[in-house]
Amino acid sequence: MDGVRNIVILTGAGISAESGLKTFRAEDGLWEDHRVEDVATPQAFRRDPELVQRFYDERRQSILAAEPNPAHDTLARLDGEWDGELLIVTQNIDDLHERAGAKRVLHMHGEALSAWCTACDARHRCTGTLLDRPPCPACGASALRPDIVWFGEMPYEMDRIFAALSRADLFVSIGTSGAVYPAAGFVQQAKTAGARSLELNLERSQGSAWFDETRLGPASDLVPAWVEEMLR
Ligand SMILES: [Zn+2]
Repeated sequence: MDGVRNIVILTGAGISAESGLKTFRAEDGLWEDHRVEDVATPQAFRRDPELVQRFYDERRQSILAAEPNPAHDTLARLDGEWDGELLIVTQNIDDLHERAGAKRVLHMHGEALSAWCTACDARHRCTGTLLDRPPCPACGASALRPDIVWFGEMPYEMDRIFAALSRADLFVSIGTSGAVYPAAGFVQQAKTAGARSLELNLERSQGSAWFDETRLGPASDLVPAWVEEMLR
């Protein structure tokens, strides 16, 4: 695409689904047979911390067993070769972008492989379990929770995301439903700043009308083809 220097890419559930990772489905409000209200809100954690910790302990092991797919691989290649600004904003809590080799990644909804200490605010990589209440490596308190942005909590680094959107020449949305704010508003933000917009998704999303172009299909087909165009 001519004249494109700064790119913001938003990735969502669709790209992880093709690596076998299930995420919250908006259609029935279930995530691995759990209601979102029971496992992904601060209220749920206060009410039944063991259920919530066990849920994320399981998610963590699924993530560690999953592998990046060609969509992750080619986005990592674009990140490595693109001279202009590039930011991959992901709604996903897995580390598949990083394992594919991408560096410019921002996890707006947190990371399953990170534990956050509610006593001292430190964050540490976590590949084990939190159900057994391990001590925080920094302060020793048994106060670790998944470093996940739950429903009702503020997504991470919104200032940095909006700054990148305001400078973007191209906004690309990959595998997201366009139903969950604030991410659903990113395309409007980018358009207002003058960016072109492209949607790569399995099906037409709620925000499709905002995109200059929509391509429908699996991310592992559409993303490699698009990256090829960008690096041509
Ligand atoms: Zn601590």
